Parts: sequence; structure tokens; C-alpha cells
Amino acid sequence: MAKTAIIEEPGGPEKFRIVDREVGEPGPGEIRIRHEACGLNFIDVYQRTGLYPLEMPQALGMEAAGVVEAVGEGVTHLKVGDRAAYASAPPGAYTQARVMKAAQVCPLPDGISFEEGAAMMLKGLTVQYLFRRTTPIAKGDTVLFHAAAGGVGLIACQWAKSEGIRLIGTAGTDEKCQLALEHGADACINYRTEDWAAKVQELTGGKGVDVVMDAVGADTFDGSLNSLKPLGMMISFGNASGPVPPFNLGILGPKGSLKITRPTLFTHIADHATCQQMAAELFDKVTSGAVKIRIDQRFPLEDVAEAHRALEARQTTGQTVLLP
Ligand code: NDP
Repeated sequence: MAKTAIIEEPGGPEKFRIVDREVGEPGPGEIRIRHEACGLNFIDVYQRTGLYPLEMPQALGMEAAGVVEAVGEGVTHLKVGDRAAYASAPPGAYTQARVMKAAQVCPLPDGISFEEGAAMMLKGLTVQYLFRRTTPIAKGDTVLFHAAAGGVGLIACQWAKSEGIRLIGTAGTDEKCQLALEHGADACINYRTEDWAAKVQELTGGKGVDVVMDAVGADTFDGSLNSLKPLGMMISFGNASGPVPPFNLGILGPKGSLKITRPTLFTHIADHATCQQMAAELFDKVTSGAVKIRIDQRFPLEDVAEAHRALEARQTTGQTVLLP
């Protein structure tokens, strides 16, 4: 049996219930994993509220780390007793143990703790695909990254620094801006108190940035487009402030032949070999010390509702883990 956080219908954090669930045995291509820590992600909020609809009842959670307890037929990259971590769909990671497809589960290097593993897979693999697999970004290029002190954000700041990429961050308080700067952002703008789009122009000598990575969505979309250089790339990868409303594609031409994409991690990690290769690069960044996984919030699994409230209220920084 495994204690599991489920919802029976979409809604607020009060919808969570902790239930005991049968775990079962892995079938072909599956493993059973006992979690030591589970990661909290903003996508869990979208799923809980129904913005990203799911079948109900539903266990949420899309990343975790733990120990492999049983291995189904055909699984060759993991064995019983291995330390492992994953980002994976469908959800179900808010639990003590589960049976799941093995393809996206990665052996976890000894130098990375379970908490770090649980906190870094979804957010770290996202940073990997943003910087490596979405548009060419060269040393010296400038990236504008919104919510730079958040989970994905602090990893992005460090990744950019380690690659010689100039990252201009934004964040909701001066303290969060300070945190982004300490993690490698070249500049950080408090977008709740400053005219951040004007400030981006000032910081780039009126040229604009090469790439925008925007997961804030509705509140920042227009300013993000206006911050790009001609031929710049807008990566719209989330909606923390609400979904981007429909817009007229025609505006991209006069703004300088801009490019735009709306990616999701799960396309990038769908292929087993690609997922493992992306994880290997992420693990190298962490074990080399280039990227540190900063866990600022820990909650017992039973307090998952409180964790969701904190994330939605913009009270968190860096990573958050749930301890089962
Ligand atoms: P964060 O830890 O970054 O938390 C979200 C942050 O967004 C908040 O802390 C807050 O920072 C900022 N924010 C701005 N406006 C709002 C608002 N109205 N309500 C709440 N928060 C707001 O979360 P994650 O690191 O888990 O994820 C960051 C973003 O990246 C999310 O939008 C997520 O969906 C997206 N994402 C997308 C993926 C993809 O493949 N498409 C994969 C992974 C994440 P501040 O106070 O500084 O404004």
C-alpha cells in the first residue's frame, strides 16, 4: 500500500485527499519505485485547477526520486535497488510508491541526493531543452527569462552562466531579484514595480534580446514580444499568470520577423534514448557544480495543499519537495 495524494474533481488546494492505494507489480516495460521525495511543479497547479484537463479521480505529481523495488520484463537500464529519478507523464508522483513506465526513469548518480533528484528532473530537463533543443543560442547571446527566481528560473540562471549566455531575469520582489543575481543572472528586473520592457531596452542598448523564455504567460506576453530583436525567438512555455489570449500572427512581421514556439517537455522526452541523453547532460551540470539545486521549501506529503497554496501565492523560491 502507498499513501497517495489524489483529487476527485478539479478545484482549489482543498480538493486534495490522502488515500491508501494498492501498488501492484510491474508489467512489461514497467518498474515499481518507492519514493524518497517528490517534486512540486506549476504544471501540477494547472492540472489541479482543470486548466489542463485530466481524468478523475487522479493522483497528481510529475517528478520524483527513490529506489527501484521491482523491474518488469524488457527493462534493461534499471535494476532492483537502483537509485532513480524521473519526470514523466501521466501524473501520479505524489505517492510513497507506484508502478510506472520505465522509459523516462533515469538512474540517479550517487553525487545527487534523492531530494535534489526529485526537485530537478522536470525543471532541469526543461532548462536543457530550452537552451539546447529549441533554438540555437550561442555564447554571448542575451536571453530574457521571466520568474527567474522560481524552480525552473534558478536552474536557468545557472545554466546560462555556465554557457556564457547573458540572462536578464525578471521576478516579483527585490529579494527574488537578488536571488536570481546570486545564481548567475546578469541583471534582474522587479516586474511588479518597474517598467520591465523599457528596462530590457535600456540593458540591451535599444537592441532587444535574442530569445525570450516566458512561462508567466498572459501578463508578460506583449512586453516579451516587444523585447525581442528582429528575427528573435519567443519561447512561450507556460501560463503562471493565465493563458496567453489568442493573438494575431500578423503582428510578428512588423515587429521584425519574429519567431514563436509553444513547447512542452513531454514532446522532448518521449523517446527513451533522447530522455536519457538529456538527463545525462543535466546530471553533468549538477555533479560538476555548475548548477546547484536549491530546495527552499519542504512539505510532508500530507501537507500537499499547503504546498500548492504557497506556489500559487508566489511565496516560493527555487525548488519545493514533498516528503512521502
Ligand atoms: P515557479 O517556481 O517558477 O513558480 C511560478 C512563478 O511564476 C511564481 O513564483 C511567480 O514568480 C511567477 N508568477 C508570475 N505571475 C504569477 C501569477 N499570477 N501567479 C503565480 N505565479 C506567478 O514554477 P515552476 O518552476 O514549476 O514553473 C515555472 C513555469 O514554467 C510555469 O509556468 C510552468 O508551467 C512552466 N513550465 C513549463 C514547462 C514546459 O515544458 N512547457 C515545463 C516546466 C515548467 P514571481 O513572484 O517572481 O513573479
